[in-house]
Amino acid sequence: MTDANMKSGRSPDDENTEAAQADPPARGMAARRRTSGEVPSPTAGWGLDLDDAPARDGEFEDVVRRMLELVGEDPDREGLLRTPQRVANALTWLTRGYETDVKDVVGHAIFEETHENMVLVRDIELYSLCEHHMLPFFGRAHVAYIPDGKIVGLSKLPRIVDVFARRLQVQERLTEQIAQAIDDVLQPRGVGVVIEANHLCMMMRGVEKQNSRTITSALRGAFRTDAKTREEFLHLAHNSQIR
Ligand SMILES: [Zn+2]
Repeated sequence: MTDANMKSGRSPDDENTEAAQADPPARGMAARRRTSGEVPSPTAGWGLDLDDAPARDGEFEDVVRRMLELVGEDPDREGLLRTPQRVANALTWLTRGYETDVKDVVGHAIFEETHENMVLVRDIELYSLCEHHMLPFFGRAHVAYIPDGKIVGLSKLPRIVDVFARRLQVQERLTEQIAQAIDDVLQPRGVGVVIEANHLCMMMRGVEKQNSRTITSALRGAFRTDAKTREEFLHLAHNSQIR
């Protein structure tokens, strides 16, 4: 184990985690952390309170300073002095899903249960960053499954959503990854995930689609093969109203 690995809490086994195996952006991020022992892993309790964030190695901040110059700003003016640190911390926090594993999030919250009807958690708040523009997309996720002997603590479903939402994403892949994770963890009879989201890269860039919403779904098992199950789920999910 290298010094960098130890400081950031990674072990060689982490190479096999989903974060490490995810898409190229995840590997890039993980590599950056590994080569710099000074960059701490994001932890709960900082990120929102950016001014108290731990010191960084300065590399990220330098890039943000340069970005400020390139958009025509003066990074040395008072209001921008701590902006590089804040941006670096915010982006690290907003992409903390790379450092999170579904298994850790679920923990021991899997229970034997004979319940055989659909379990649906609707209107899970979702915030992510599109990987094309690194601008937010946000909305709601509706997550359902039909147990096959095992259920998961309900509060874990939003946390599974966050594991994948807190990465650079496209909405389609995010939807699939959530469905796949639940399929892997519970081996249920079926999984259904619907995400409705607004993309700031569309809304802010003059595309004049300010109210358009992107809806994606991922269906597994009975949700795919059984028309009645699928219909029931999509009906329940689409009766939600995004605001
Ligand atoms: Zn975009």
